[in-house]
Amino acid sequence: MVFFLFFLSLACVSHHPTPSPHHPHPPPHQTRFENRMHDFEICTVVGTETFGRVQIGLHKKTGTPVAIKTLSKSEVLFARHAEHVLAEHAVLKTVCGATGGYPFQFGDDGSVIDSGRNHPFLITFFGSAQDDKHVRFVMEYVPGGELFSHLRLAGNFSDAATKFYACEVLLALEFLHDLQIVYRDLKPENVLIDKDGYAVIVDLGFAKEVKGKTFTLCGTPWYIAPEVVLGRGKCKVTVCSFCAVTASWHCLLVHAQNGISYSSLYRCMDYA
Ligand code: ADP
Repeated sequence: MVFFLFFLSLACVSHHPTPSPHHPHPPPHQTRFENRMHDFEICTVVGTETFGRVQIGLHKKTGTPVAIKTLSKSEVLFARHAEHVLAEHAVLKTVCGATGGYPFQFGDDGSVIDSGRNHPFLITFFGSAQDDKHVRFVMEYVPGGELFSHLRLAGNFSDAATKFYACEVLLALEFLHDLQIVYRDLKPENVLIDKDGYAVIVDLGFAKEVKGKTFTLCGTPWYIAPEVVLGRGKCKVTVCSFCAVTASWHCLLVHAQNGISYSSLYRCMDYA
């Protein structure tokens, strides 16, 4: 049953995107994206995903790079992760709709019109596609690597750099919260640096639209918020949800200022 629903839902979202208040009639390029996968040459792997990989896709005609996250359907279903994949897709679409559209468009001659990022500190989603074995999410390619790697190289960041990244992350989270979305997996591995040096949050795999509270224990153990561990649930608007964000955010800051070490992790755990 879950198997059937998974494919049905993805088929629906690929071919008949849900109209949003911002996009009552989704533009045609959004629905056509699936037929455009052959326009891309899939090359270097830039990250490994739990159920697949993230690769650079080069638009053959223009050389424009995109990031293509490919998930194996069988592995997703075997791990009973289908709901998360559908939730990630729904959240990516909501974020794109709320930020003013799908900027990656195909011109009549097959050229790519890329009109920039939707939200300055959130990954931009271009579209999805699927075949018998795989689901693909096509996103903007963020070339600067993970904040985690920069931190490991630098040892620790200055106060100014820490504030710079922390504010950007906070603005992205605030934006998600305004859309009733909780992110739930904040960590330096999920913050990439763009070509201009700004932070961009990626991986909305645990993000979820929450109307009331959510109780799922998820995220990365070192960064999990206290009320999640205690099973009290989290939501967008309560004091406890504020802690959920600030705990993960605090961990990010502690890491940024002290470097990634076991002692800093223990300090995070004390806080939690
Ligand atoms: P997982 O859900 O398994 O954590 P992610 O979506 O975080 O997978 O992707 C894994 C890694 O791939 C990231 O940590 C990052 O290094 C790389 N990556 C993901 N998205 C992009 C992107 N849009 N541009 C460049 N690299 C990316």
